[in-house]
Amino acid sequence: MATPPPAAAQHPDLVGFDRAALAVELAAFGAEPFRARQLWHWIYHRGATDFGAMTSLSKAFREKLAAHYVLGRPVVSQALTSIDRTRKWLLRFADGQEVETVFIPEEERGTLCVSSQVGCTLSCTFCYTGTQRLVRNLTAAEIVAQIMIARDHLGEWPPAVQPDRQVTNIVLMGMGEPLFNYDNVAAALKIVMDPEGLAISRRKITLSTAGVVPAIRRCGAEIGVNLAVSLHAVRDDVRDRLVPLNRKYPIAQLLDACRNYPGASNARRLTFEYVMLKGINDSPAEARELVRLLAGIPAKVNLIPFNPWPGAPYECSSEVAIAAFSDIVFNAGYSAPVRTPRGRDILAACGQLKSASVRLRRREPEPLSAA
Ligand code: SAH
Repeated sequence: MATPPPAAAQHPDLVGFDRAALAVELAAFGAEPFRARQLWHWIYHRGATDFGAMTSLSKAFREKLAAHYVLGRPVVSQALTSIDRTRKWLLRFADGQEVETVFIPEEERGTLCVSSQVGCTLSCTFCYTGTQRLVRNLTAAEIVAQIMIARDHLGEWPPAVQPDRQVTNIVLMGMGEPLFNYDNVAAALKIVMDPEGLAISRRKITLSTAGVVPAIRRCGAEIGVNLAVSLHAVRDDVRDRLVPLNRKYPIAQLLDACRNYPGASNARRLTFEYVMLKGINDSPAEARELVRLLAGIPAKVNLIPFNPWPGAPYECSSEVAIAAFSDIVFNAGYSAPVRTPRGRDILAACGQLKSASVRLRRREPEPLSAA
């Protein structure tokens, strides 16, 4: 498989610096403050990967920058496109670690699903990523780089940009638990939301968590993005098995944090994700209990048909069971769409992400054929 990991950069990478850090860095380097603003524009608005292309800067300054810094991109070690046009990029960082980023085009929007960690420590029993042992936090630069890579590959940096942007929404729903990597995720999102940078507003960004209760409030108050909560069960005994983090932060505590999520309103509802597992959490009684639990929370429910992976100990609920569950929640006044699985043929659907090197090492079967 593809290219070897890049040698560790000899010069510091300017991608991942926030505005203040970039200004400090350039000041130490003897450049005037407006240079930092120009550089910011080139890096995050224009997507420059080469100092030479920064034509608003003098040639001498460009050369000086090139001698001291790099504008890094991780190596794309695999790029796949699904029959439904979902795209997946496997990215390899300087230390050889890998994550996956998935782009999901739809009629009216395009959603980029971004990873926050290599692997995941949560060990949710229905999630493929949870079977991957190796874990580390991504840096802010590595999180931002996923969006930059998507823009590179979709050809949407100005001035070549199409009138309609393809990446309109970001979901932190890839590999990892974003609230276990809070500082780096927050730093990355500030860069992503900056109107003169990647310019994706907080209303178009959704962070998904398994329920790290103490970090939920901070997330709402400090970053202000939309929140999605992976609930998946209505009783603690069931949720303890599916999402082991529940033993630390049980359902009542989690829902309390949701009830108080800063910025939540009927216009800005919280999303509750609920994976449909045959015979485990999919009965009509559980749908009714879900409705009872959500009382008082501006909520919508996203039902996710379980996406299978090699050796998974669960099966997806039947279509009839999913429809019945959805009807009960919907009739109680909550939007309850069933998430259409996207990119299953390239293992890009929810819970199917895992670093390819791990798959190869364990000699697991190749991706499932198209659903
Ligand atoms: N750690 C965060 C981010 C992961 S988001 C979280 O738990 O929310 C990925 C979403 O896909 C979560 O709701 C997760 O529970 C769900 N998921 C994981 N494995 C899945 C699978 N095999 N089929 C369907 N959904 C799955």
